[in-house]
Amino acid sequence: MKTLKTGSTIGIVGGGQLGRMGAMAAAKLGFRVHIFTDTMPSPAGEVAAACTVGSYDDATLLEAFARDCDVITFEFENISAAGLRKLEENCVVYPASSILEISQDRISEKRTLTELELPVAPWIALHSAADLAALKEFGFPCIVKTARLGYDGKGQYRLNKESDFEALLSKADTLSYPLVAEKFVDFQREISVMVVRQNSENYRVFDPSENRHKDGILRISLAPAPISPDLAQQAQNLAIKLAEKLNLVGIMGVEMFHDHKGQLIINEIAPRPHNSGHWTMDACAVDQFEMHIRAVAGLPLPSSRRHSDAVMHNLIGPEDMSLLPFLLKEDDGCLHLYGKKEVKPGRKMGHINRLFPKGGLPGELVLSEFLPNL
Ligand code: ADP
Ligand code: MG
Repeated sequence: MKTLKTGSTIGIVGGGQLGRMGAMAAAKLGFRVHIFTDTMPSPAGEVAAACTVGSYDDATLLEAFARDCDVITFEFENISAAGLRKLEENCVVYPASSILEISQDRISEKRTLTELELPVAPWIALHSAADLAALKEFGFPCIVKTARLGYDGKGQYRLNKESDFEALLSKADTLSYPLVAEKFVDFQREISVMVVRQNSENYRVFDPSENRHKDGILRISLAPAPISPDLAQQAQNLAIKLAEKLNLVGIMGVEMFHDHKGQLIINEIAPRPHNSGHWTMDACAVDQFEMHIRAVAGLPLPSSRRHSDAVMHNLIGPEDMSLLPFLLKEDDGCLHLYGKKEVKPGRKMGHINRLFPKGGLPGELVLSEFLPNL
């Protein structure tokens, strides 16, 4: 693949915090960044050399954007297939649209994982209200999710028993189809792995982190995940195998459940930097954003070694932002704010990476004292 020269332009589709941190990583490597976003102002647009603001379906704008870029990548996955084609006609796009299309739709995501014989929870597709009846035979507990556009637990319905199913049936007409139903996994913990790949010879994988959610939103990641070296290796191998099969260029987050039988089950994939990889920004010499930019720019991928342990806390909504004066005074607390003007409940405003010497992650009691509302 082509190696981009210093001063080349990297296009990033999406204006959120992932784009912002990606843009800063690209700038650090001497690149110019052009953001495409539908919102103004945007966290990414404010740190980039150029920013196009318009609809992700605007063919003319997408074409002009693509012509200004030497390579295009994403921080946001939900651009239309037509929009993607416009970009690919006019520029090199990594990761390829075929990977993006898989991750945009939970049904194609599950189908791909199943075809590749990777471990996934049993699942069925529900294409219309008439298909809901199949849930009864599928069984409970299960989770019903909208196939497209869900994030942070939005568009999900947990069915523990038949009465929950009846309740869902009663609002069948209001649901957005297609849906996917998957068996509820009684997990010990959730983990994720960030894998970055250029080709079969050049790839890197970061240590797995453990991720804890509240109300469907990631609250903290612990790096490393407190799992055996064997299991960590298994998780990394799954991510590498998937990246290889998809012929990934760039970075991808692979979310997994570690169940009570000790098995790993893949939950979902995100072919972009991921919230659960933010700990790498301060605990590794080259973080997930820089690795991603290096991968798509054809630069070498140095070690993904972790030099410190870290606890990443997301700063969410007004509650966590009220702690800012204290967070600013912390030793070994690496603060990252996204510059969002409006503070809303549930909105990710920033994160803090708390660093510890290797092997020195705090125990549960100390963890619970960090942020009052965990
Ligand atoms: P999102 O795109 O919103 O991140 P996920 O599929 O990752 O969607 O679901 C959000 C969270 O809901 C997961 O991190 C996990 O905590 C929980 N969850 C999702 N699917 C399952 C499942 N099959 N079994 C148990 N918990 C689940
Ligand atoms: Mg998820």
